[in-house]
Amino acid sequence: MRDETPNSWEARADAHSFYGFTDLPSVNERGAVVLTHGKGPYVYDVHGREFLDANSGLWNMVAGFDHPGLAEAAKAQYDRFPGYHAFFGRMSDQTVMLSEKLIEVSPYDRGKVFYTNSGSEANDTMVKMLWFLSGSEGKPERRKIITRKNAYHGVTAVSASMTGKPYNEVFGLPLDGFIHLTCPHYWREGQDGETEADFTARMAQELEDVIAREGADTIAGFFAEPVMGAGGVIPPSDGYFQAIQPILRKHGIPLIADEVICGFGRTGAVWGCEAYDFIPDAIISSKNLTAGYFPMGAVILGPELTDKLQTASDKIEEFPHGFTASGHPVGCAVALKAIDVILNEGLIENVRALTPKFEAGLSYLAENANIGEARGKGLMGAVEAVRDKASKTPFEAHLSVSERIANTCTDHGLICRPLGQAVVLCPAFVMTDTQMDEMFNKLEGALTQVFAEVA
Ligand SMILES: *Cc1c(COP(=O)(O)O)cnc(C)c1O
Repeated sequence: MRDETPNSWEARADAHSFYGFTDLPSVNERGAVVLTHGKGPYVYDVHGREFLDANSGLWNMVAGFDHPGLAEAAKAQYDRFPGYHAFFGRMSDQTVMLSEKLIEVSPYDRGKVFYTNSGSEANDTMVKMLWFLSGSEGKPERRKIITRKNAYHGVTAVSASMTGKPYNEVFGLPLDGFIHLTCPHYWREGQDGETEADFTARMAQELEDVIAREGADTIAGFFAEPVMGAGGVIPPSDGYFQAIQPILRKHGIPLIADEVICGFGRTGAVWGCEAYDFIPDAIISSKNLTAGYFPMGAVILGPELTDKLQTASDKIEEFPHGFTASGHPVGCAVALKAIDVILNEGLIENVRALTPKFEAGLSYLAENANIGEARGKGLMGAVEAVRDKASKTPFEAHLSVSERIANTCTDHGLICRPLGQAVVLCPAFVMTDTQMDEMFNKLEGALTQVFAEVA
């Protein structure tokens, strides 16, 4: 399957490109998949192979890979004004318009937006904003950040410290002052005989205990994805946000929703916080924000944080932070179009229309003796492989079961991603009924084949 000729695309990829988040033994054996173009939810490689991408690239190519309106919006803006910054009181007209739009579609009646190039940078920016506030308000010790195990908030030194995954230990992370609570995953973390309501109450109590232990005046903020994405597609336990938000409020700790995956339609609502019926103090957005057609992230501040940040900035006459490409005019033009396409051209309706079929597909796979749990929300889902269903015992790590499933899927023309012992599905919002059948049929075929191999 790997093209072994010395100047093959696979060899050239190996020679000069460093792989990130890649299982190196697997790519050594199989070769990199080098892609050339896409159509709807499909991508094509240098050998002319077609793959249905069940992961929308990395969650973000929700309008598919050949949306004419998005490409046109970018081209038109490149012709008009191809680049500018947002420093020194200058910014492009597109930036002004995108901020207006983001506040309009946000849960806030007023607020302000700050732009970055990625989700990681948006989380870093939010943390710096909170630290800036602490200093400005005469509480410099208010710096600790609370997140959850299995959370994914990015890869920069701060956002990786927020991420609750053990792989960051190789970097000597997390930095001091980053605290990870129990993952609110009832199926995995619930104790024998514990109801879901009791489990949620225990998660809330843990938060209370940690605040009491650390001291409320040492904690700058609490960050949470409404549904954890890269941690394995983990919806919160019932009533989770309703249980923790009052605790945070009582102690004056801002709740920041990392909506990088959930935002703009993934759950069927515009925001994940809307799907789970809470209003955070700020929202972090990226990925779907431009439907993946431009790298961009945004911090969307609610009214209270907007006012506090404004006061703190006025005091020293500046907010000393920004990226060269913050609020890039082409990115803003693409985002304006992407939001319009998602909200007004039928994409979010398609998410809602497809969700019952998606859920039915997941439930059907959950009947497999080696699927411990199928879970999800809207068009994000995961199936978790287990050796033994009753005891939830995972497969032996050396079998790399989820990696095998994903590789077998690739051999059958389906791209989906392994995550721990789970396989993730997060299809494009433009997917059709028939394409969804193809996705589940191919995944089921791969599951059957791999479970037979490792039985
Ligand atoms: C992808 C992701 C990020 C990081 O975004 P990058 O653009 O990769 O830096 C942050 N938070 C969540 C929830 C994400 O899914």
